[in-house]
Amino acid sequence: MAKVQLKDICKSYDNGFNAVKNVNIDIEDKEFIVLVGPSGCGKSTTLRMIAGLESITSGELSIDGKIVNDVEPKDRDIAMVFQNYALYPHMTVYDNMSFALKLRKMDKAEIDKKVQAAAKILQLENLLDRKPKALSGGQRQRVALGRSIVRNPKVFLMDEPLSNLDAKLRTEMRAQISKLHKDLGATFIYVTHDQVEAMTMGDRIVVMKDGIVQQINQPKVLYDNPANKFVAGFIGSPQMNFIEVDLMEKDGQTVAKVSGKDVEFLVPGGKAAYLKEKGYIGKKVTLGVRPEDIHKEKVFLDMSPESAFDAKVVIRELMGSEIFAYLDFVGNELIAKFDGRNDVSPGDELRLALDMNRVHFFDIETEESIL
Ligand code: ATP
Repeated sequence: MAKVQLKDICKSYDNGFNAVKNVNIDIEDKEFIVLVGPSGCGKSTTLRMIAGLESITSGELSIDGKIVNDVEPKDRDIAMVFQNYALYPHMTVYDNMSFALKLRKMDKAEIDKKVQAAAKILQLENLLDRKPKALSGGQRQRVALGRSIVRNPKVFLMDEPLSNLDAKLRTEMRAQISKLHKDLGATFIYVTHDQVEAMTMGDRIVVMKDGIVQQINQPKVLYDNPANKFVAGFIGSPQMNFIEVDLMEKDGQTVAKVSGKDVEFLVPGGKAAYLKEKGYIGKKVTLGVRPEDIHKEKVFLDMSPESAFDAKVVIRELMGSEIFAYLDFVGNELIAKFDGRNDVSPGDELRLALDMNRVHFFDIETEESIL
């Protein structure tokens, strides 16, 4: 069992800077949890406090119900894998992997068993005699992982372990780490600023900003039901579009009128009733729409004339199976994602429609999600 609990964890550095503010996270045994957020949001500090590499200013950190705030890193039964691998350059792969076990004075045969087993899992069997400089980035990263696996820890902590790899290797290693998690049956706590890594690897994701947890949930829930405008913009690529609108009643229906422009979208009944109940009619709100919820197909346009609009293509990015179209829509920049088979070019005037059943509304002041 390796349940990790953070209760009201705060970190103030010596210079008085509050890097982590009242963080509460319950990490389940065998869970793969990803801490994600922009640079400086406090995710590494949080991980380093779990590792014991950074003191905890206030709050309680427990592993399997035991408070470990003052327990030495080596006694926490955790292993940390860093972004820069931290391998010993003068040692072979075998020696790098066995080093911690030798320090513990483990029996030689036992060490060999553990190193060979880890090398097998990570496909490093043929590289055990090499020195780090004779390895590729991906191989070095696997050695760094191997070094933690041999220790058989209950919890693996990883701080941006893939950020030094090229895009292709990163994708490969993503899958390898997910597989490793399944094979080892251990708890993984993984830090990244890359929302794609978070979305593809995490059982649950913790989104942080300015030292504060914004939302904790499964990837799909974060994507479909972001708690606020920050999470909505951070999760998803290209990011969600935001348009300032005025909500108003018109001929017995609710419309979202683009602020200062002569364009309106009809708000569907269910959403309109909720916005009314919450007192938002007559107010300015932020409408959020994901790039894939902007449509250009004729069938969709015919079905949704009340959410149709015109926009001009400014830039087009061909991604193969998809096209990202950067649009000028009455002075707002919108990004739409179309099927790659579409013929879209800069300068094109497009007739488009929003899928109003899938749009989000955010309070303009608090930026919290309304629905
Ligand atoms: P990155 O992705 O850039 O590593 P992060 O989200 O992991 O960012 P942290 O490294 O946790 O962020 O840092 C959080 C904040 O704390 C940052 O503003 C950083 O400048 C500050 N900070 C980190 N270490 C110290 C320190 N030793 N003294 C003072 N401030 C620090």
